[in-house]
Amino acid sequence: MASKEKTQKDGLLRAISTDGTIRAVIATTTNLVSEARERHELSFTATAALGRALTAGVLLAPMLLRDGQVALKFHGNGPLGRMMIDASPRGTVRGYVEHPKVELPLNSLGNFDVGSAVGRRGYLHVTIDSGFGAPHTSTVELASGEIGEDVNRYLVTSDQTGSLVVVGVHLTSRGVEAAGGLLVQLLPDHTEETICKIENNITTFGTFTFLMRRGMSLENILQRILAGFEVRPLADVMPIRFHCKCSEDRFVEALKVLPAGELLSMAEEDGQAEGRCQFCNELYLVKKERLLDLAKGQ
Ligand SMILES: [Zn+2]
Repeated sequence: MASKEKTQKDGLLRAISTDGTIRAVIATTTNLVSEARERHELSFTATAALGRALTAGVLLAPMLLRDGQVALKFHGNGPLGRMMIDASPRGTVRGYVEHPKVELPLNSLGNFDVGSAVGRRGYLHVTIDSGFGAPHTSTVELASGEIGEDVNRYLVTSDQTGSLVVVGVHLTSRGVEAAGGLLVQLLPDHTEETICKIENNITTFGTFTFLMRRGMSLENILQRILAGFEVRPLADVMPIRFHCKCSEDRFVEALKVLPAGELLSMAEEDGQAEGRCQFCNELYLVKKERLLDLAKGQ
């Protein structure tokens, strides 16, 4: 039962309690956090920070939207600089951090010091783009820079009913061993003790990543953390992944707006045009011949 299935795919499960007091989204994100770490060559501290933020994006998107995307911009006063995430309710997420190599000593609890790395002062901007009309941005002050509390502050500010956000990354010298999280939204029928009950469950049964490392499935983790509530899943487990919208074609489209003279000088002086996607760190190269064709086409 305690066997570890490291190859378990990332997934997301939405559920509601039959007494109408809570709605929950839980997700495992080990593989996508690992992919982000490799793509951006993240330090340990940056992996913990970006991993939590990617997980928060994954949890938030289906809670807020049916379609479109949600973007989270963490702009704290810490050495990691800005951190950008965008996620869709269809299970895709991407993101980057401005200074991916920053490494800080562990904090007094022996955890990665995400709060100091992101910064305890600053802002979280959340932009919801439903695909209809203009996107809507809300801004809250960071609560602690620890990500979960910051996203929770956003939810509590924008939605009076209250919520609980837990995101975690378990990282060792072997890499990302477990990552995931839980978002619980209180519905109007909740009582004072609803949140206490969930917090007690987490204290009793262990953190999200602890339960994951015991090889528990998403359904089992949900039952443990929401013990005492009768919950039913709203859909099957949805696969989630790191996915970026960039492509070579998009890079070429972006080059087309440059003046012909600039394209010609790139072709002659550099022999190519080079572009790197900030979100996924993919490198795109456009060869000299193509640049000359683009210059001619203008
Ligand atoms: Zn990209």
